[in-house]
Amino acid sequence: MILPEPERGSVILIVDDSVASIEILSALLKDLGDIIVATNGADAVRLAEEHQPDLILLDQEMPGMDGYETCRALKANDETRHCAIIFVTAHTGQDMEVGAFAAGAVDFITKPFNAPVVIARVNTHLALKRKTDALQQLADRDGLTGVYNRRYLDSLLTTEIRRHHRQGQSLGFAMVDIDFFKAYNDGYGHLAGDDCLRNFAQCLTGMLRRPGELVARYGGEEFAIIVPNLDVDRAEGFSNWLCQGIRDLALPHAFSNIQNYLTASVGLAVGVPPQGMSVREVTLVADAALYQAKRNGRNTSVVSNFNL
Ligand code: GH3
Ligand code: MG
Ligand code: MG
Ligand code: MG
Repeated sequence: MILPEPERGSVILIVDDSVASIEILSALLKDLGDIIVATNGADAVRLAEEHQPDLILLDQEMPGMDGYETCRALKANDETRHCAIIFVTAHTGQDMEVGAFAAGAVDFITKPFNAPVVIARVNTHLALKRKTDALQQLADRDGLTGVYNRRYLDSLLTTEIRRHHRQGQSLGFAMVDIDFFKAYNDGYGHLAGDDCLRNFAQCLTGMLRRPGELVARYGGEEFAIIVPNLDVDRAEGFSNWLCQGIRDLALPHAFSNIQNYLTASVGLAVGVPPQGMSVREVTLVADAALYQAKRNGRNTSVVSNFNL
């Protein structure tokens, strides 16, 4: 089961230095989504970062940053690269068309506007965008719990290790393993076990507070959490707080050897990643800490600083 993103209608950003063009396009497209507008490239990038539009109609000719430059800026930005861009142009011809596609646009429409053609093209690209988003969701998420999957975790962790190394910042990576989960399955059945995993994943997700923090299912009843900019002196508090949040879920576990509710053990790796540190190395440190937490009696956390 995939937990759907909160339902929202399509968002369309119209970028044009001509207010008359903006008015025509807004009137044509008002039933296809929420319309936001910008009259220059810099505002377009800022609004796109803020509102994450599904589709951007981008005027080719604007003073300052023109359409091509704006398009390249949107495509080079992690926050906005997924937005589909349709060029709007008064020119036709091979150079314009090739230039638009080379800059990252998916299509173009010409001025003066031909209403049915504009609506048809926008509709087509909104439908394609919805399908692309759905596929991306399937590729990145764990089917049972809806949190990110191992594949996505590995790619993000790779990026975060490099970024924290570059910036000399401390990174946190937690492995969280449910205690006595085999006994839970044996006692309550696998379907109840699946429900428990969904609850557990939601509990972890609900505990994230800061931008960039991410929960993934590592496998089985093990979850991983990336905690950007986790200072070493905040690490112990954070991992204890995770254990407490799981206890506070108060899910009954009559078959646990240590409590009558669900608990988990946490291994937290923390530190400034040294040059060339790999996902595997970070994982090994978190795993060793987790193993130690299990040996310490479970329902507890161990922090391991990989700089020491
Ligand atoms: P410990 O406290 O040492 O972590 O013991 P444990 O029983 O939690 O660990 P163990 O590795 O022995 O068992 C993990 C269990 O997790 C076994 C497996 O059946 C269950 N499991 C893994 N994936 C799923 C799943 O997708 N659904 C369900 N219901 N159970 C799962
Ligand atoms: Mg213009
Ligand atoms: Mg396990
Ligand atoms: Mg376990």
